Amino acid sequence: MAFDFDMIQRVYAGFGERVEAARQVVGRPLTLSEKILYAHLTAGTPTQAFERGKTYVDFAPDRVAMQDATAQMALLQFMQAGRATVAVPSTVHCDHLIQAEVGADQDLDVAKNKNREVYDFLSSVSNKYGIGFWKPGAGIIHQVVLENYAFPGGMMIGTDSHTPNAGGLGMIAIGVGGADACDVMAGLPWELKMPKLIGVKLTGKLSGWAAPKDVILRVAGILTVKGGTGCIVEYFGEGAESMSATGKATICNMGAEIGATTSIFAYDESMANYLRATNRADIADAANAVRQHLRSDDEVYTDSAQYFDQLIEINLSELEPHINGPYTPDLAWPLSNFAKAVKENGWPEKLDVGLIGSCTNSSYEDLTRSASIAAQATEKNLKTKSEFTVTPGSELVRFTAERDGLLQTFEGIGGVVLANACGPCIGQWARHIDDPNRKNSIITSFNRNFAKRNDGLASTHAFVASPEIVTAFAIAGSLTFNPMTDKLVNENGEEVMLDEPQGIEQPPRGYDVEDAGYQAPAEDGSQVQVKVSPTSDRLQLLDAFPAWEGTDLKGLKLLIKAKGKCTTDHISMAGPWLKYRGHLDNISNNMLIGAVNYYNDKTNTVKNQLTGEYGEVPAVQRAYKAAGIGSVVVGDENYGEGSSREHAAMEPRHLGVRAILVRSFARIHETNLKKQGMLALTFVNPADYDKVQEDDNIEILGLTEFAPGKPLTVVLHHVDGTVDEFPVNHTYNQGQIEWFKAGSALNLIKMRVNA
Ligand code: SF4
Repeated sequence: MAFDFDMIQRVYAGFGERVEAARQVVGRPLTLSEKILYAHLTAGTPTQAFERGKTYVDFAPDRVAMQDATAQMALLQFMQAGRATVAVPSTVHCDHLIQAEVGADQDLDVAKNKNREVYDFLSSVSNKYGIGFWKPGAGIIHQVVLENYAFPGGMMIGTDSHTPNAGGLGMIAIGVGGADACDVMAGLPWELKMPKLIGVKLTGKLSGWAAPKDVILRVAGILTVKGGTGCIVEYFGEGAESMSATGKATICNMGAEIGATTSIFAYDESMANYLRATNRADIADAANAVRQHLRSDDEVYTDSAQYFDQLIEINLSELEPHINGPYTPDLAWPLSNFAKAVKENGWPEKLDVGLIGSCTNSSYEDLTRSASIAAQATEKNLKTKSEFTVTPGSELVRFTAERDGLLQTFEGIGGVVLANACGPCIGQWARHIDDPNRKNSIITSFNRNFAKRNDGLASTHAFVASPEIVTAFAIAGSLTFNPMTDKLVNENGEEVMLDEPQGIEQPPRGYDVEDAGYQAPAEDGSQVQVKVSPTSDRLQLLDAFPAWEGTDLKGLKLLIKAKGKCTTDHISMAGPWLKYRGHLDNISNNMLIGAVNYYNDKTNTVKNQLTGEYGEVPAVQRAYKAAGIGSVVVGDENYGEGSSREHAAMEPRHLGVRAILVRSFARIHETNLKKQGMLALTFVNPADYDKVQEDDNIEILGLTEFAPGKPLTVVLHHVDGTVDEFPVNHTYNQGQIEWFKAGSALNLIKMRVNA
């Protein structure tokens, strides 16, 4: 029996009726995304249509998933909500805190020792509140969710931006901050602006070196890192049906890179096969019984432009493998143009490291396709020129791949198998490099390639591609290699070519595992003690943020005017800081240290207006806080893109920043700011960004009449005595304004649970 089968049956029992009611109120055929959204309204059966891209809607997700880095803060918040157990099935996955250095076993042992306090905390909180706990080594959240919890037609939120991975099994799965997870676990509705819809029609069929990864690399090139903002990307067409469920998951996973709310495929045979292969035949049978509701209505497929806000068509038969990067995942290069781009841009041609696996690309199919390339290196007497690592997504996949000889094939060409964890994907990589300042190239089958993300080195040029392309490049040791056209010289001095990769969708002998790494929670957790040491530097119980003082904000200082890209990695860096994810005061020492100061083009160097001296951003902000002075952070377009981590919102809130004023926000970060009681504002006129000066004294007016759709006013008092005044927009609805007034959404939850 699969996890939560009763819950899934309940979802399916009411599904058809809700979909039909939605069809009536919307007054037209429905897309799959709309069906699932309308079937998950907190209010139950739909009685009104919601305008896409405009209306905020309350949803009731079926489950919550949390990874260890974000779960700490989510659960510290949940503990304050006063409940005995979580309101919906929830899980914690220990994957982000394991550093890759030597290899799986040793790295895992080191991580268990180093993070014992955090793992013990997460394990005991999970045990107490009815949460499933996946131990370190069990795997990466999205792979484990796909193998165990994702189901067609379901709705899930997860405290990680790649939660949409579950769209590969036809689920609406959305990355959120820990505060949202806390809401849903506390039984409160989860609010989301009704997303717009982008349709991607896939015709033809992949062949040769082209893989599902190349679909999303191409889509990222078309839509860019902002193109999916506020949208669900729905894939359909004969090409969609020809891909495996895990290939679909790869595409949905990387929808995060275009800023999409989530991505999804309709239920089909590939999903049924995957459910059966992963011991969930009961779910496949139940899904088959309602399969007409788990796809868009026929009219959507025949007259697609009518039903989507934007429509893209990709012919898979013509799709080339892609390599995206460096520094941004939307810089898309078809393989045939890539070598030229490398030379023209002066990127290091020598490839230092190829890394495959991660939550994005470690399915059995991915590993077999890559292993078919690795095996050729051995057969054809080729020596692998680059370092090569393999990160299995879960213990289920790892155990099965080892049983079937795949890992041995990788090790045979010098590959190092890392722990079933995030490792190099999130900067948890003790990289062995001769000179950290040497410009160098790496290529991964991961999803993200922002500067410094993988190894913390500004000198690293990171590219993303399919695992089979990464494997071929690692063998060649060069970024200018094209396995479709180029020969390699083997150890005998002979010219050889690599044949096209061959993959197997599901293991012929089935999946197998000895210990998947799951810990079920106590039936009655009321006696379970959760311990947090007051002297810990890793964990800190939270204090409530203060409520709004009831007046306009005056006398604020400019903390930093950030120039250009400012992702959540710039705002709250990962890597070595991950260990403080459960300690708000300590992790606040990384606040905005990666953001570039507009006035001196430097990172982590801003003017302290109290002294006139330049100092580190957190230190300057602590000085303002100590003096009882609030501050403002100014930013550019798509501020806060990247991850869902609410630390990027909590840190400025904790240190006394009062408002973030930018040209535009990434969705999750904007919501996170609102949850923490922060003002998230955008310039009505983007050119007003230029009016902000380094020594400004700032006022934010209109808060006593703060209302949905009503702009606020910003007044800049410049040091030369001149003044600039302009309107600023916000997207707060009435409920969110109440969060601001209460000091945070959590403050409101507490009031309601205790009422
Ligand atoms: Fe982990 Fe990387 Fe996947 Fe995030 S994207 S869950 S860091 S493997």
